[in-house]
Amino acid sequence: MPNATRAERESAIKADPDRRFWQFATRMPSGCWEWQGGLSATGYGVLSLGSRAAMRAHRMAYEIAHGPIPTGLFVCHRCDNRRCVNPEHLWLGTNSDNTRDASEKGRIANQCMYQTHCKHGHPFAGENLYITGDGTRGCRECRRRLTREGCRRYREKKRAQCRTGAGGVR
Ligand SMILES: [Zn+2]
Ligand SMILES: [Zn+2]
Repeated sequence: MPNATRAERESAIKADPDRRFWQFATRMPSGCWEWQGGLSATGYGVLSLGSRAAMRAHRMAYEIAHGPIPTGLFVCHRCDNRRCVNPEHLWLGTNSDNTRDASEKGRIANQCMYQTHCKHGHPFAGENLYITGDGTRGCRECRRRLTREGCRRYREKKRAQCRTGAGGVR
């Protein structure tokens, strides 16, 4: 029901959140399920369910698929698409007490901000970002460097073994 009015959408979801919720997400070729309802100022899907305060659509998607979100954890996007509600693209992120405190006070709009770069400062975006087998975000630049570094060390070790006479066929 992509053309439903906001009231129709919300009453449908309220009646049966576990099934109706997904009718308002469009499957994109990229694998993302884009929320068709309202968007927050920061670009996240939102819905308000009657007396409940407005809820982020991706948080609701996570709860329907995986159960309640533990206190203090954030639902983050692997795909960087804030409208996306595909549970496969959502993960629970922790944060330092400092930033959590700041976000609770409303000073940080996007709690997953710390995930925009790898620990070496390369951007988690575009070509450089890949999703690893265990579902975490990987940095191609770091992977390239690690591979180069690993090969170099391996060659040096081999050379050292030749010089000392160690490392022959056992
Ligand atoms: Zn996605
Ligand atoms: Zn990196």
